[in-house]
Amino acid sequence: MAELDGVLRELAAEMAERTDRGAVASYIPQLGTIDAGKFGIAVALADGQVLSAGDADEAFSIQSVSKVFTLTLALGKIGDALWKRVGREPSGNPFNSIVQLEMEHGIPRNPFINAGAIVVSDVLLAGHQPREAIGEILRFIQFLADDDSVFIDREVAASERATGFRNMALANYMRSFGNLHHEAELALGVYFHHCAIAMTCRQLAQAARFLAFDGRNPLTGHSVVSTQRARRINALMLTCGHYDGSGDFAFRVGIPGKSGVGGGIIGIVPGVASLAVWSPGLNENGNSKLGSIALEKLARTMNWSVFAS
Ligand code: GLU
Repeated sequence: MAELDGVLRELAAEMAERTDRGAVASYIPQLGTIDAGKFGIAVALADGQVLSAGDADEAFSIQSVSKVFTLTLALGKIGDALWKRVGREPSGNPFNSIVQLEMEHGIPRNPFINAGAIVVSDVLLAGHQPREAIGEILRFIQFLADDDSVFIDREVAASERATGFRNMALANYMRSFGNLHHEAELALGVYFHHCAIAMTCRQLAQAARFLAFDGRNPLTGHSVVSTQRARRINALMLTCGHYDGSGDFAFRVGIPGKSGVGGGIIGIVPGVASLAVWSPGLNENGNSKLGSIALEKLARTMNWSVFAS
């Protein structure tokens, strides 16, 4: 796809010029050391090609983007029973907010805010030691990316564990409502480690591809999840994937997406492609500033939208 290749190169060149890059997350000290000048983008297509530009081969901390993969695993384990413990509504609140949890009796609004993802980690922990659950998540992502080099950045995990006071509060609070079945410390161990997975844009675009093709690898036909489940995960990404900036992302970009405070975002164009972008500077909602702008421009140029006729 020569045209798309050129569009990606132009986008990367344009983003490299920009000086308004947002602020790198520093509440996890290890993330604060990342160069705000980075920008990478990759697009995985049905025929197996992955087109990319910029710093698309540099690994970064995927943070909350990992929540899409842990949700997929948890649904595979307990199916719709998950929805007794986690909601499916946008939160309209910051990613680490505690206020709604009290009013809603310890049931997080959705699986993509921190509280919801900690419950998902608790589900993945059932019957396992934390080390086994973390290994299962890593192997699943390596399988999806078709790349065994995907790894957990232990320094990022340790940095988050040392400073994750809000997440500890969320976990303990949910435990007080009976919505965390393991010690908070154990569920958080799983959570911090999956957030600390490091991947490149190329690996991420590839790992998310099953969501663009009815839950299947379009090349091999191998099914990761059912068509219905892929659609539902995409629906959650569209409505809840960008915290209290989810409405704005849907409005501007028009495709399901999931962001992380490491500056990564994945996007899904059903039937066409899966996208990954990385720029570490964040906007006021904690979503990649240039990453969101680049996806908006890319979607507009390629006429990609889930609302297109
Ligand atoms: N590990 C991060 C945290 O719990 C994830 C937040 C994010 O990527 O949005 O704060």
